[in-house]
Amino acid sequence: MKRALSKSVAAGILIAAAVLSLRVASQESRSPVAPRREVVEAVVREAYDKFRNDTNGKNADYIPYLAQVDSKLFGVAIVTTDNQVLTLGDVNYSFSIQSISKVFTLALAMDELGPDKVFQQIGSEPTGRAFNSVLAVVDMPTHTGNPLVNAGAIATTSLISGKDEDEKWNKILTFYGKIAGDKLTLIDEVYKSEAATNAGNKALAMLLAKYDRIYADPFESVDIYTKQCSVGVTAVQLARMGATLANNGKNPATGEQVIQSEDVPHILATMAMAGLYDGSGGWAWHVGLPAKSGVGGGIVAIAPGKGAIAVFAPPLDEAGNSVKAQEVIEYVARKLNYNLYSPSSVGLK
Ligand code: GLN
Repeated sequence: MKRALSKSVAAGILIAAAVLSLRVASQESRSPVAPRREVVEAVVREAYDKFRNDTNGKNADYIPYLAQVDSKLFGVAIVTTDNQVLTLGDVNYSFSIQSISKVFTLALAMDELGPDKVFQQIGSEPTGRAFNSVLAVVDMPTHTGNPLVNAGAIATTSLISGKDEDEKWNKILTFYGKIAGDKLTLIDEVYKSEAATNAGNKALAMLLAKYDRIYADPFESVDIYTKQCSVGVTAVQLARMGATLANNGKNPATGEQVIQSEDVPHILATMAMAGLYDGSGGWAWHVGLPAKSGVGGGIVAIAPGKGAIAVFAPPLDEAGNSVKAQEVIEYVARKLNYNLYSPSSVGLK
């Protein structure tokens, strides 16, 4: 009797402990600073209405396909670290990820080689010049500049291992898919349009070869890079990719640790310095969030520990950054107190 009792008491204690540790675990995995849904919803709606009729900017046209994308398309998506999803507008339209892909190939390169090697082989200095600048390659001591301008990005793609081009490309595409928590595919028309007009990127790759700063066949690397830029994403998929970074490399929807947590600060720092090219300084001044733009019209911004916001609107400013995406993100970040450089963003009043 005594033994039976103590057994059941022990079992009870065990169950209680298990329940408690489950609770603690689920509390631990929830970010204490993930924003409240009603607040975010209201602010996103305000921003959407405020900027939806802004007609400033112009679609990219150096890639012929991009010139004919409907410039009125406009979608906003937020994914939080506790996997709340908020969407408004054209969030199911699949647009080309373009330069935003550079962030995720950087993550894969670090996964394979570790951050120190990637830093040595690519670097992380802002160029202060256009994203496709030849002069930056000539002038900068590293030549590659950083992983988020074309030259540095092509060199970063060249670091990805594989027995042939197909294996490298499939590895990149699968990796992006895990970060998005969805199967992603190439938009063939974008790829063909860009591959037919990317003499400038081939020139950058050959110039890097002259300086010994590209680590595989230059033309193969440009081709894989062109494919990675032609991957289609919706605003929601892009926001989830950003939320994976905000959540320390763990996809908040699938729970998979896709990017190593120790790589995340390096990625976000690079985004903060060069994510909007020669618009990065102004962006840091006004918004204070690591972000990345693409000439397809997307921008994703990361609020570490909180979530990510992705906006898609094709018309771009002079630097190649979506006008409406910048406006919406700036508005939302200010209202929700996301600015990373403001101590109040982590609760200090
Ligand atoms: N694929 C584009 C290019 O190489 C990417 C540029 C961008 O989005 N800024 O020019």
